[in-house]
Amino acid sequence: MLVLDGKIAAAAVKATLLEQTQALKAAGKRMPHLAAILVGNNGASETYVASKVKNCEETGFGSSLYRMEADVEEAVLLAKIAELNQDPNCDGILVQLPLPKHIKESNIIEAIDPAKDVDGFHPVNVGRLVQGLNTFIPATPYGIILMLEHFNIETKGKNAVVIGRSNIVGRPMSILLSSNIAQGNCTVTICHSHTKNLKEICLGADMIVAALGVPNFLTGDMIKPGAVIVDVGITRVEDATAKKGFRIKGDVHYEEACAKASAITPVPGGVGLMTIAGLLKNTMKAYQGL
Ligand code: NAD
Repeated sequence: MLVLDGKIAAAAVKATLLEQTQALKAAGKRMPHLAAILVGNNGASETYVASKVKNCEETGFGSSLYRMEADVEEAVLLAKIAELNQDPNCDGILVQLPLPKHIKESNIIEAIDPAKDVDGFHPVNVGRLVQGLNTFIPATPYGIILMLEHFNIETKGKNAVVIGRSNIVGRPMSILLSSNIAQGNCTVTICHSHTKNLKEICLGADMIVAALGVPNFLTGDMIKPGAVIVDVGITRVEDATAKKGFRIKGDVHYEEACAKASAITPVPGGVGLMTIAGLLKNTMKAYQGL
């Protein structure tokens, strides 16, 4: 069984990006720049944003982090986005989700210039993705595609099941896997909280992408021998024996899945690292122009 190690695949993506930034530097050019906005101080969001900024530095990108209080008015956030949209030194804009309840997420996403929308959430970019046009692919599904590419996982003609239909993971993942691209051309079934016979559907799958946010949901009895398992889930589960008081759990029962799968992504150390790789690639793309 092959462990699809995110550390290895992400390092390969970042090494290529570092070569590109070093070449830009040698030519006296400006570096690609990512602006991240963090509203409030949600622990998981803090960790994700810190990791994104650190990875920018390691890859030679510039980055700025703008922090706003949890009770910030939507208009203030929109004004910051408008300013960054106009800033010629800012290539990519990322607003860390989720946002506090009083802010309408779609207003924020739609305010970002589609040419700087490195998260790929703007409806213009989603439309381009659906039509198979050049676009910013949302970072997590993009990272998964990069992971499959790195480990030469053949997908053509396979039955793929995606569990979860969110705008940031499940739905774009299902679009990519069904697209006519190297790591696509699957026959895709997208499942969600109203799906009946999920176990039977999973048992027919050559590949399962679990993105629902329920720890250990996908158990060994739901997996066909030889299937490829991609675990997107990241849930903090309380654990008094852990240093931080919690452990990160995926959506897949790892030990049981290992006994069935031909390849599997671990949690942590799998898709999460590839998400950052996808984001960095999108930022380079924004710098170069779509
Ligand atoms: P979400 O809550 O927006 O969507 C969850 C989806 O799962 C929904 O479409 C829902 O219908 C479906 N679902 C819920 N319970 C189900 C069930 N019992 N059976 C079938 N379908 C069910 O979540 P999201 O933002 O897509 O995130 C999903 C998970 O992925 C979370 O754990 C999140 O933390 C994680 N995540 C990880 C990364 C990463 O980089 N690894 C990135 C984004 C999200």
